[in-house]
Amino acid sequence: MTIETIYNTFLTCSAVCTDTRKITKNCMFFALKGDNFNGNTFAEAALDKGASFVIIDEKQYQKSEQYILVDDVLKTLQALATIHRKSLNIPIIALTGSNGKTTTKELINAVLSKSYITTATIGNLNNHIGVPLTLLSMTKATEIGIVEMGANHQKEIEFLTHIALPDFGLITNFGKAHLEGFGSIEGVIKGKSEMYDFLKAHHKTIFINKNDALQVKQVGNYKNTVVFGSQTQLLKAQPYISIAYKNEIITTHLTGTYNYNNVSVAIAIGEHFNVSTKAIIKAIESYIPNNNRSQIVKKNGHHIILDAYNANPTSMHAALSNFEQLNNTNKVAILGDMFELGNEAKSEHQAIANYANELQIEQVILVGENFNTTTKHDRISYFKSFEDLKSKFDTFSFKDQMILIKGSRGMALERIMELL
Ligand code: ATP
Ligand code: MG
Repeated sequence: MTIETIYNTFLTCSAVCTDTRKITKNCMFFALKGDNFNGNTFAEAALDKGASFVIIDEKQYQKSEQYILVDDVLKTLQALATIHRKSLNIPIIALTGSNGKTTTKELINAVLSKSYITTATIGNLNNHIGVPLTLLSMTKATEIGIVEMGANHQKEIEFLTHIALPDFGLITNFGKAHLEGFGSIEGVIKGKSEMYDFLKAHHKTIFINKNDALQVKQVGNYKNTVVFGSQTQLLKAQPYISIAYKNEIITTHLTGTYNYNNVSVAIAIGEHFNVSTKAIIKAIESYIPNNNRSQIVKKNGHHIILDAYNANPTSMHAALSNFEQLNNTNKVAILGDMFELGNEAKSEHQAIANYANELQIEQVILVGENFNTTTKHDRISYFKSFEDLKSKFDTFSFKDQMILIKGSRGMALERIMELL
């Protein structure tokens, strides 16, 4: 069957599915393979549960005309996404960066959806599977698409941009994330800049934050840009940030001065697409972060900045610096290991421990094996694991504290909430 025929079949389906636990009626099921599973073995179950067609790549599973046999299910998914994207003929905004992609994507979506029917990446589906799924979730009704792109090695963003063919793009920031795959910060800059490379090669528009010297340098003298960074001003971050914008003050539910950049680009994009000032402000003000991303939670007299969703040296540094600037006394930073740092793991953990040691933060608690291999500071408490911390947690007798909780996903430090 040609890819065009498969695409026409896709158009008769209600949606795309890849998980038999989440089948929607009349969907097209893609039998993807993972390290520990072979989707082909679920094809029959997908049809039983209501899928209209299943895309498989192992002939022995083919039982009827509802089974569409292809060479490679994943490549078919990606190819269909590009055909679909081309057929839609709508502006697509792509974003990547080391930190803040999902938050920025949500903010852009909040702003643009005031005036347009938008389709944006759901959650964090930002890889070689998530990007095609996002594109295929766009419908004839969609007026603007917003696609988050993640990467932990070179050529990944290049690959994703060629699937999504964005008309607009931005990089939230260049930071020390996924150093294992990128090798170094220079590697990160090169890898993320593949976004700019694509946009430049296809004469598309780059949103560029004039206050980010690295962005300015990487974009160079390319002309097709929308430069932002002067229409807003950060007023305060105590604990939520507020921003001066066109004689108004935007009060957000976002903590962390780093979120100022995320808001700024969402405003710039709103302006570019002619969303009214009032609607832009309303969208930003009503956006409430979730999923442990810089959420502020109150519990038993404590104010907790729950940032346990993920961590890397850049976001850890930003979170600590922001935490120190909060007016409160009685502050506790509980930090967990940062993963995927390869050879830099030891030095980066040492650097964060040293930095935390110098800050005006009353108590610092470091959790995890990586932090435990660093040279210790007297005023810092070290624990090998969450379980280790849990068993001794009562010794702290915290009362009405301001608490920062941050660590890599694998540390799942949100579990500390149960102890407070
Ligand atoms: P992922 O790589 O998992 O997709 P992401 O880039 O989508 O992450 P978010 O989920 O938006 O990032 O934010 C994760 C955390 O990164 C936040 O909770 C915050 O601590 C930090 N962060 C957000 N924006 C920035 C920024 N502009 N600079 C530095 N750190 C940031
Ligand atoms: Mg994300």
